[in-house]
Amino acid sequence: MPVLEIITIGTELLLGEINDTNSTYIARTLRDHGIDIYRITTVGDNPVRIAATIQEALGRADIIITTGGLGPTIDDPTRQAVAQATFRDLVFVDELWDQILERFKFYGRLPTENNRRQAFIPEGAIPIPNPVGTAPCFIIEQDASYVISLPGVPQEMKYLLHQDVIPFLKHKFNLQSHIIKATVLHAASLGESAIDELITDLEERRNPTVGLLAHPGQVDIRVTAKASSEDEANQMIQPILEDLHNRLGDHIYGHDEVTLEDVIIQLLDKQGSTLGIVHYGLDSSFGAAFLDAQPQLVTLMPLLTPTPDIGTLVAETSTFRQENNNTLGFGLALLTDKHPLLHLVFQDRTQTRSKTRQYGGPMGNGIRWAKNISLDFLRRNLMQFIGNTRQENHE
Ligand code: ATP
Ligand code: MG
Repeated sequence: MPVLEIITIGTELLLGEINDTNSTYIARTLRDHGIDIYRITTVGDNPVRIAATIQEALGRADIIITTGGLGPTIDDPTRQAVAQATFRDLVFVDELWDQILERFKFYGRLPTENNRRQAFIPEGAIPIPNPVGTAPCFIIEQDASYVISLPGVPQEMKYLLHQDVIPFLKHKFNLQSHIIKATVLHAASLGESAIDELITDLEERRNPTVGLLAHPGQVDIRVTAKASSEDEANQMIQPILEDLHNRLGDHIYGHDEVTLEDVIIQLLDKQGSTLGIVHYGLDSSFGAAFLDAQPQLVTLMPLLTPTPDIGTLVAETSTFRQENNNTLGFGLALLTDKHPLLHLVFQDRTQTRSKTRQYGGPMGNGIRWAKNISLDFLRRNLMQFIGNTRQENHE
């Protein structure tokens, strides 16, 4: 697959005055055409530095796309820099000048002497007429690589990318269009490094690729396939998903849009059990998803004072469960005095399970961590409760 580097040009990008949306757009678009992107560089409006950047990229990449710096003013240095990097002179192209004049006529304006600059392109370059702006663009073939210079204005860049550049690259590199498809598995109760150890060999794969993204108390495993159709991508992803399920077992709670709350609601619904929840220290929206989905199965009560120890939380969970005549009770308390501590209680009519976890991550993430850990504790206990109930019914 051909290798692409993008160079965005403009001092205002370096100064942080505008965001570089051009390179994101080009990267995403060309990736879907089977082009590998290796590097994105931003350079100010300085012809010497731009030329050096292009020359360096020519040593590595098959395709170099620049955006910006093609206007008529002196601080639009791209033409000159590309000429210098490819050891060419700038030459005046009558045809381009005619197009520029025509465009000015269309807008009822007169070109300035400066606009003549835009009709100069590096010798031997293939001109790309620009019907949506004044800056003509061009492609240069240099030592079996291509330098493609596009305007900085996003709408103009996008238009020329689709209209001229992609067809050109498809032809030159015999590119097949393909799609990228990703499925994300969500895992809990197992840290990023533990998961990493279990799936290192999968993470070294090329296509599909397998990557990890850690959140507080939860890890996402993304499986991404590049294929010529969605069916083909699914067929490639499926065996990897099965493999991941085999290795990580019930640490995986769902795919893509599925949340821990969704899984818990499904489990409760399946069993028809009612759940009473008492909680302390999480944000006030905690549990709202349960009430929205299953108001008849869940009762919820925020505790107003912290539970000093796990024994107190067990008692509070138990009282609330009995008062509401719930099948199950769930209590959680996040205490953030020194080292955040999370007390967890799960109770059915015959037994109580409790656990205390300590948080070691950044304080700002404490509540998200506690929420994920608590919900996963509830999910696991619900699965076990359902398993036990089924067994009892069989006996
Ligand atoms: P012009 O003929 O308009 O001068 P140009 O090719 O010289 O076009 P620039 O002058 O570098 O382009 O940029 C024109 C405008 O396009 C900038 O002011 C900015 O708003 C936008 N622009 C430039 N580069 C980027 C980029 N990488 N991402 C997003 N917007 C950009
Ligand atoms: Mg400009």
